[in-house]
Amino acid sequence: MSKRVVIIGGVAGGASVATRLRRLDESAEIVIYEAGPYISFANCGLPYYVGGKISERDNLLVESVDDMQQDFNIDVHVNSTVTAIDADQQQLTIQGPTGSITDHYDELVLSIGATPVVQSSPVCQMPTTSSPSAPCPTLTKSPPTSTTTTPSVPRSLVVDLSGLKWWKTCVAEA
Ligand SMILES: Cc1cc2nc3c(=O)[nH]c(=O)nc-3n(C[C@H](O)[C@H](O)[C@H](O)COP(=O)(O)OP(=O)(O)OC[C@H]3O[C@@H](n4cnc5c(N)ncnc54)[C@H](O)[C@@H]3O)c2cc1C
Repeated sequence: MSKRVVIIGGVAGGASVATRLRRLDESAEIVIYEAGPYISFANCGLPYYVGGKISERDNLLVESVDDMQQDFNIDVHVNSTVTAIDADQQQLTIQGPTGSITDHYDELVLSIGATPVVQSSPVCQMPTTSSPSAPCPTLTKSPPTSTTTTPSVPRSLVVDLSGLKWWKTCVAEA
């Protein structure tokens, strides 16, 4: 019987492990649950998109849900957040577009990334709204169009070198 591998998180690590696994095992059932609306996008391209070097946000999308199904036979569920893991029963609870569902796994891969901690700083206040200079850690939080057409592109750069016991913030005016 083929094993059922469930991957939580479908961007850099999740999509990579899914396609790699398919190449290693043609018979496995591979399922991805991704909380956001996109999978397999280029986080590393976000600065170029925000800076206008990449004009179309769609150019950051590497694989679509349909591509994953057709090219790799991988079952992808977007807008689906895993809310509980029962390791004893090898069962997941997922909050998806149709409500709460459960799923079973033989093997589970966690690729849920990380969320940045935005520190308050006496040097400068980081905007918390979706302004052009707000933190932009994911594709969904990026502006819908490139900022090349936006006149209010920020003119300062903040490099925050956070550490466990200390932090240092450098502000450079453009
Ligand atoms: C702006 C930017 C630039 C970067 N540039 C570089 C670079 O040049 N070089 C480099 O090596 N790295 C770069 N990185 C880092 C790189 O993108 C990350 O290391 C990589 O994306 C981490 O992959 P991941 O799969 O662990 O997490 P992510 O790619 O963040 O994916 C995690 C996914 O898990 C989903 N998720 C979380 N919890 C759940 C849940 N409960 N249920 C379902 N889904 C869930 C999230 O929605 C998210 O989409 C950059 C990152 C950013 C933000």
